[in-house]
Amino acid sequence: MNSDEREQLKQKLQADLLEIRSSIDTLEEATKPIAPDDAIGRLTRMDAINTKSINEEHLRNAKVKRGQLERAIKQVDDPDFGFCLECEESIPFKRLQLMPESRLCVKCKAQASR
Ligand SMILES: [Zn+2]
Repeated sequence: MNSDEREQLKQKLQADLLEIRSSIDTLEEATKPIAPDDAIGRLTRMDAINTKSINEEHLRNAKVKRGQLERAIKQVDDPDFGFCLECEESIPFKRLQLMPESRLCVKCKAQASR
């Protein structure tokens, strides 16, 4: 990875982090406690509960991703950034562009999630 590529990744990481932070704000708003039955009606409330649990799932995932992005931003200047933590092969730049938070190559990632 050359310094231009590293710079591109840095910008991508920062843009992704801003994006994930704003979706976390939105999701936190959407997962606030739901008003009681008599305030909004039973069916509406059941809908609201379903939507809320979907949003809670999204929120959990978003927070995991935020942690990964924050870590990647701290590490992007390290000489070993862009190399797989498992096999130490370099991670293809295309993969880093899509998922700059990835610290494993595709092969090791596939093994890790088994
Ligand atoms: Zn690997």
